[in-house]
Amino acid sequence: MGEASRASGGCLCGAVRYSAVPAKPEMDVCHCRMCRRWSGGVFMSVPCNDLEIENEQALRRYVSSEWAERLFCKDCGTSLFWRFQDDESGHVAIAFQSFDDLAPVSFAEEIFIDEKPALYAFAGERPRKTGAEVIAAFEAQQQEG
Ligand SMILES: [Zn+2]
Ligand SMILES: [Zn+2]
Repeated sequence: MGEASRASGGCLCGAVRYSAVPAKPEMDVCHCRMCRRWSGGVFMSVPCNDLEIENEQALRRYVSSEWAERLFCKDCGTSLFWRFQDDESGHVAIAFQSFDDLAPVSFAEEIFIDEKPALYAFAGERPRKTGAEVIAAFEAQQQEG
């Protein structure tokens, strides 16, 4: 999964296959309650652009908030994509575990750390942001244009 090259992946049953270009060779973890419920763990994702889905009819869409949607395989339930509903940029957070080659990304950031249950924690040092910090950073970015 090198920078600027396409990376491929798919769901557990193989009905959904995709490729996308990682925006950064990074994996981020979200500990928010919605991501934990949706993924059955934590949502580990790689920020990507230019998503191409081979068989879009195999996906189901769930609108999880006023701004975001989550897409998953209709047949096997694999959690695959998180994105903004009206985003024309093609930016999407793709489930890290769904890539064919998991190797060369670094574990860059943990978000919604304030919603993380106390009974687990990831080792190592990296930025850990609260939900309020993530939302504030997002709003600042929106105002910049
Ligand atoms: Zn599937
Ligand atoms: Zn989340």
